[in-house]
Formats: sequence, C-alpha cells, structure tokens
Amino acid sequence: MTATLDRTSGYYEQKLETLSSEDRAAYQNAALQKIVQHAHANAPAVRKKLEGSNVRPGDIKTVKDLERLPITHKHELTELQQSDPPFGGFLGVPMDRLKRICMSPGPIYEPEEIHSKNDRWTQAFFAAGFRKGDIGQVTFSYHLVPPAFWFEDALHRLGCIATPGGVGNTELQVRMMHDLRVTGYIGTPSFLVAISKKAREAGYDLQRDLSLEVGFVAGEMLPESLRNELEVSFGMILRQGYGTADVGCLAYECYQKDGMHFPYNCVVEVVDPDTQRQLGPGEPGEVVATVFDEVYPMIRFGTGDLSYYTDEPCPCGRTAYRLVKILGRLDQVTKVKGMFIHPSNADEVATKFPEIDRYQVVVTREAHVDQMTFNVELKEDCKPTQDLAKRIEAAIPNCMRVRGKVSFLDRGTLPAEYKNIDDRREWD
Ligand SMILES: [Zn+2]
Repeated sequence: MTATLDRTSGYYEQKLETLSSEDRAAYQNAALQKIVQHAHANAPAVRKKLEGSNVRPGDIKTVKDLERLPITHKHELTELQQSDPPFGGFLGVPMDRLKRICMSPGPIYEPEEIHSKNDRWTQAFFAAGFRKGDIGQVTFSYHLVPPAFWFEDALHRLGCIATPGGVGNTELQVRMMHDLRVTGYIGTPSFLVAISKKAREAGYDLQRDLSLEVGFVAGEMLPESLRNELEVSFGMILRQGYGTADVGCLAYECYQKDGMHFPYNCVVEVVDPDTQRQLGPGEPGEVVATVFDEVYPMIRFGTGDLSYYTDEPCPCGRTAYRLVKILGRLDQVTKVKGMFIHPSNADEVATKFPEIDRYQVVVTREAHVDQMTFNVELKEDCKPTQDLAKRIEAAIPNCMRVRGKVSFLDRGTLPAEYKNIDDRREWD
C-alpha cells in the first residue's frame, strides 16, 4: 500500500534543485565548458559548428556565450545523418559504449548509453509525485522510439517497478492495472481518457477498483479542464513534462503545477528566432536546448517549439526557472509588429465570442507598418454590430499582444480550407 506516501514535497536531488541562481549559473557554466570541450574533441559535427562560427571551445565560458553558436534544427540533423551516417558526426563516444539506438521520425537515429540522460526524467518523475515502491505503467511505444525506455529508467532510478503496457491493448492494460494494483500512470493524457472509459465499461469503479495515485503525462497538450477531470475521477495527482526525442527532458511540473521547471543539468534557452539571441522572462521565442550528454552532445538544438519562461519563485522550493506553457510550433508563427502570433492565440480570441463561426487573421503591410485584420464570419442568427466589433477588438491585444481591426465577412466568403493566419505581406 502506498497511501501514506508524501507525494507533494521533497526533491530528487535537493541541493542541486534548490541552488541559488548564482550557484546554478556557476554549475551550468562549468558543465557547459566541459561538454563543449568534450564535443569539440570527439564529435566532428560540433567541431565544425564551432569552427564555422570562428569559436574556439575555450571561448564558451558561460550560457550567454552560446549565443555565438548557430542553432541546429531537426531537419538539419536528418540531413547531416544522411550525409554522415549514422549519427551525422554527433556521436561523442566510441560506438561500443552504446547500449541502445532508437529511431525517431525523420528518420533520426539516437544513440544512448543506458541512463546517460535519464536523470532529468527522474527529477521530473519525483516532482510529479512518483516515489519508491510505486508500480508505474508505461504506455508509450516500446518500438523504435526512445521515450518508453527513458521512463522505465526513471522509474528504476526511483526504486519503482515498471509494467510495460506500450501502445493500445486498452482492455488488457486496464486488467493489468487492476490485477497488479498499479499506482502510477505514464503516457499521454488522451490514453488515460481511453483507460478511464474502458475501465468503466468493464464495470470498474476508477477509485475503488484501480489504485492509480500519480501520473506523468507528455506528448500532448494537457488542458486544465482535462487534468481536473482525470485527477478527480481517478483520485490521483497528474503532472506533465516536456522534452524531445533528441535531447530528452527539458522541463517538468512540480506539485504547484504552475509552469514547468528546467532541470538543473541542462541549458534551456528561449531564443529570438530571427537573431538567435536569448530572450528574457515573458518573451516568447524558440526553446533551444544544450545537454550535458557525452554520448550525444547536442549543443544549441532548436526544438521548433515556441514558449516563454518565468523567473518568479515557486513555492515548491525548486529554484530553476519555469517554462510557462508551450504555445505551439515555430513554423506556424507569424511576427507582427515585432510580436510573435500563433494560431492558438487567435483561437483564444475566437473562443471568447460564441457569435464567431469562422475567422481568418490577415496580416498586411501598409506604409511599412504591419496591419492585422481579424476577418470574421458570424453564426447564422448573429448580426454584425459596431458593439461586437469593438468588443472583439478589445480582446485581441489581450490574447495576441498586438492590436487588430475586425472586419465582418458574409457567410461563406472564406474558402472551405484556409489558414487561420494568412500572412500577405510582401518583402523586397
Ligand atoms: Zn515548483
């Protein structure tokens, strides 16, 4: 029985998770210098990246110095691996040290030594509420891709037992959870919904017949309404983490569920996609990661995800800054008057007004100034009024941080398929 466990406080590595910002900077700068030296000496692709920027490994002394290096994106990784198989020059150790090679869509091959980067996921699991003695069901795929293995490693490091559920087989997974009194769930939010449905169909009461107390989800957005519903119906704590197949864990929630802390042992930058410079708290930009992983030393890997961070203190005691939320993919982002706007921001405006049926944001440029127009088709029984236009116009800067004009279109003006943000600016 695990009913007496304290899942809401404590740390996996107290000292390192509660460093002052000066001490954390010192820790990270030292680790950064070491990994850059190592990668320069052992990974030809990293050496080339430094040489291409006229940077010697000794020049990278602080996190700020990373700005001197270009960002490597996933598609470049695919190309590099194809021209220099199998790892594109990013392998930082002799091949015989590897224990696992996974394949992610791209395709991209990911070399690993067991546990080489999984202590970051372990921090995440502890913060989510996993404790020694838990039985955790891992419902990510065990085929080709790495996450399921990482999460098993993290469970083992905490002294937990893993049940490898994998993908699908929902009925059998429910049975396994029931029979083994599984206490932890690891998977996507949507699969946990599927589990709850199947369990109810099987006549189980989610709290009486299943023993789930804690869950860690990743890979999908977790709306607060869904989190609440799942936490209440299972009687469990549900927390999320963020990472990518290439670099592993980059951020995770604590019990406070108010943003995702950066692990202490990697560098996460939020970067202006145009200048590749580091941004401050509250400023949305691309999430860029540098990991202290000798095996696969990714230095300034661009995730393509758009987010922003906060440096406000967290009541949990962890001092690392937090990613507030993932706003979407960078390739769907448009920059208007110096601000990044994303389709999800525009959706936020639209959902505030039940009168709106369909909309399209059009960005144009007049006399060298960006203009944003919110073209709206209303529902059948709604009238386009001045008042409604004004109210929508007032909501736009709150959600999108840029002012815009509202223009009503006749129903059916927008084509059957259209982009929610249409950038019609032309540049010489
Ligand atoms: Zn916290």
